[in-house]
Amino acid sequence: MPGWKIIVTDGLNDSGLELLSTHAQVDSRFGISGAELLDVIADYDALIVRGRTHVTADVFAAARRLQVVGRAGVGIDNIDLAAANQHQVAVVNSPLATTQAVAEHVLALLFSLARSIPAADGSLKSGLWHKKQFIGLELKDKAIGIIGMGNIGSTVAQLTRSLGMQVFGYDPLISEAEILHREAQPVEFQDLLSQSDFITIHVPLSTETRGLINGESFGAMKRGARLVCTARGGIVDETALLSALESGQVAGAALDVFAKEPPGMSALVSHPRVIATPHIGAQTTEAQARAAVDIAGEVIAALKGDPLRWKIV
Ligand code: NAD
Repeated sequence: MPGWKIIVTDGLNDSGLELLSTHAQVDSRFGISGAELLDVIADYDALIVRGRTHVTADVFAAARRLQVVGRAGVGIDNIDLAAANQHQVAVVNSPLATTQAVAEHVLALLFSLARSIPAADGSLKSGLWHKKQFIGLELKDKAIGIIGMGNIGSTVAQLTRSLGMQVFGYDPLISEAEILHREAQPVEFQDLLSQSDFITIHVPLSTETRGLINGESFGAMKRGARLVCTARGGIVDETALLSALESGQVAGAALDVFAKEPPGMSALVSHPRVIATPHIGAQTTEAQARAAVDIAGEVIAALKGDPLRWKIV
């Protein structure tokens, strides 16, 4: 073992920690503050995070021997990629580990919206037996618009198609032929908005996608459309969504991600036609184990100088 030291700051499944510790000294510092990380990062060859730790330009500047930052999971919006590049630190993630978990959570949210499952459960548990107010919708033959036809979007396409939904896909970075191959009918953004009964978002948060779903987009939707967002807070303009819910333009929304997390009891979270979950899309036993093993293998490969599967920088 060449004396590598790895710091893990956001928790990692034991299977990943075990794999790492066969190659390096591993320090589990779950929940470490930003200031503490700045104090200790100079000692480490690798840093492994999930979504909580912000790997800022200051972290890269304070690092002396850092070779690689590993993100267990997909989203890398908490890592300053320009600073990583400038300091010649590799950034790797585990893009496939959480795909199925998030796609299944999308299905759970679609069914919850269509059948008001959380509200029906709450009603019964408060001693009521209301059936008439819980007349729902069937997903079969409804149109779903998928924004972002990458790993999660295309898995959602396959699953919703198998339910008999009409599946539209919008992704300007993928060819129409490839979107068709991924089991969705390629459409322009405006057509997706105007033709979908359900809309689900699967793009990364970036300068291009921040505020992608805004007041104008809600105005262009079919009246009574329902929105699911498990991608990232900030992609949907939450103020505009609240207005669209209040006006009835949007019939319901299911959100797993928020501009500010945790969001607290905001007007949006407490709205009766909003279903809200605390960023649990990837929180399955299987996905967490897969993400840990994938990122551990990738970080070790980076330290050894082996070829990388999921290099971002
Ligand atoms: P992916 O990289 O496979 O797919 C993203 C797709 O978005 C790509 O096909 C890309 O071409 C497309 N895209 C980029 N900009 C676009 C734009 N302006 N309009 C339309 N499409 C655009 O990523 P993925 O694995 O499918 O994950 C998608 C997002 O889901 C991640 O970036 C992450 O933010 C989020 N996520 C959330 C959770 C959770 O716990 N809720 C877990 C995992 C991932």
